Amino acid sequence: MTTGKIVGVNGNMITVAFDGPVAQNEVGYAKLGDMRLMAEIVRVRGDRCDMQVFESTNDLMVGTPVEFSGELLAAELGPGMLAQVYDGLQNPLAGLAAEAGKISADASYFLQRGMYLPGLPRDRKWDFHPTAKVGDKVAAGDPIGWVTEGIFDGKTMPGHKIMAPFALKGRYTISYIAPAGDYTVAETVARLAPEGGAGGEVEVRMMQRWPVKVPIRCYKERLEPTETLETTVRTIDTFFPVAVGGTYCIPGPFGAGKTVLQQTTARYAKVDIVISAACGERAGEVVETLKEFPEIVDPKTGQSLMQRTIIICNTSSMPVASREASVYTAVTLAEYFRQQGLNVLVLADSTSRWAQAMRELSGRLEEIPGEEAFPAYLESRIAAFYERAGRVRLRDGSTGSVTIGGTVSPAGGNFDEPVTQATLKVVGGFHGLSRARSDARRYPAIDPLDSWSHYSSVIEQDRVERIRGILRRGNEVSQMMKVVGEEGTSLADFTVYLKAEFLDAVYLQQNAFSDNDATTPVARQRIMFGVVEKAMLAEYSFAEKDETRKFFMDLQQTFIDWNDKAVDSPEFAALKDELEKKIAAASKS
Ligand code: ADP
Ligand code: MG
Repeated sequence: MTTGKIVGVNGNMITVAFDGPVAQNEVGYAKLGDMRLMAEIVRVRGDRCDMQVFESTNDLMVGTPVEFSGELLAAELGPGMLAQVYDGLQNPLAGLAAEAGKISADASYFLQRGMYLPGLPRDRKWDFHPTAKVGDKVAAGDPIGWVTEGIFDGKTMPGHKIMAPFALKGRYTISYIAPAGDYTVAETVARLAPEGGAGGEVEVRMMQRWPVKVPIRCYKERLEPTETLETTVRTIDTFFPVAVGGTYCIPGPFGAGKTVLQQTTARYAKVDIVISAACGERAGEVVETLKEFPEIVDPKTGQSLMQRTIIICNTSSMPVASREASVYTAVTLAEYFRQQGLNVLVLADSTSRWAQAMRELSGRLEEIPGEEAFPAYLESRIAAFYERAGRVRLRDGSTGSVTIGGTVSPAGGNFDEPVTQATLKVVGGFHGLSRARSDARRYPAIDPLDSWSHYSSVIEQDRVERIRGILRRGNEVSQMMKVVGEEGTSLADFTVYLKAEFLDAVYLQQNAFSDNDATTPVARQRIMFGVVEKAMLAEYSFAEKDETRKFFMDLQQTFIDWNDKAVDSPEFAALKDELEKKIAAASKS
């Protein structure tokens, strides 16, 4: 094992002189008495390397011994990850808190330095159901059996699949498979003999380790992200859709609603698993989520939402270096579940904090800075992260997906900065939050004029475009009216303005904190959009602005009442009828 000694300390970076082979991104530990502080090699030069330490570097000094592990920064993959709250290094935080003997719910999310716990519980047994038999041929990532894990019980949902190690090269024959029974993640459940007989047998355990910065690519092919991912947020699904296996970003100034929007999506989006990476946001906010989530009932399963959720949490008070690890850990866990044929959503909040960590490290490495002192490789790192999204076909013909949505929090809400710009170049959808909208409490504050998406909507494109056209014209009239006043505006223009306001009030705005309004499934969006369309395309017979305004105020109120009704209730049908009659009665015949 290679060892070394610290020759320099600079913030969270140490420079180490070493005596054997080391590799870029290899993990090592600085040894402080009994304490071992984890670090990752970020640059190798001759017989010295620079390492980012995932802990406070207090007390580290020239001469402190360092031990290298020979392994890249890796995640443990297998049963036992769901419902966990991890830090960026995949330490289970509840476990750490218990270990540290802390009791307070808030304090428990701050770890003791140098304490690391396995990502997967070692003592827990899982009910292994073999699906492959001796003599079967397998390759990397092929399922050989499954276990029950929470809602993944092999009944309404598939079981948690146990797969041949992702690192296998070529084809193997199963020479042993464990009988059905209870096993820990460390026990052997199968042995594989390489085809052609070259090399030794491979022991298969339920747990495997995978380097987080390397994408898992055991699938047969990548597919185009053509299917709309149902988020049940109307503005998104109808106007700025996300695709299953696609990417999108939510830039917005502080307080514009990024985190609330991510949490709404985590709750309601039609996916199998959500991995939420809270990256560098305020601790209070994160703790709130952690307390709330286990109590929220998953509308899909009737069970706690946590059963299909993993939270990776690195608050602003945790060491900066682990922010970087947290986004990679999140996406690696997502790829693992995609390989099982599941649809996974990764939510990263906020990627700006991750970029700041990159900037800090780059500064310490004294690299040539790019724009706003971000490293020159900022764009390629961001691109590489989003490229790990995708819908894939597996070797057995089934499909799985990883969708990535990241928030960006540019200072002052100015989107013309490197992180937002680099992200916009690679993502398929842009949900720009506007300060003006959030100030007016028009939530979600997704700007309906600036935002865009390359993916397909749940409504036909030409219908969406026609309505957006009215919205755009309504906005122009609104700007003009600020100058010339209502009196100087024609009745026709004024009507366009009212139509746009109507759309905003009844369709774009959606209250995340109201049970009935927070989530609008696609089927209901189609019905609602049909009525909105009628109201907006109608030519009205009014002679005066006041009359027109009254009509729209009344229509809006009826529509908002309608939004509150269950789709299968008699009131729903009655109000739809009422809305349509009102529109027809006011229209030119
Ligand atoms: P950000 O993450 O962009 O800083 P938050 O998501 O924390 O902002 O939102 C700030 C506040 O705005 C929330 O605490 C909430 O009061 C309000 N808010 C945001 N989104 C909504 C929404 N969809 N419905 C109602 N209120 C919202
Ligand atoms: Mg936030």
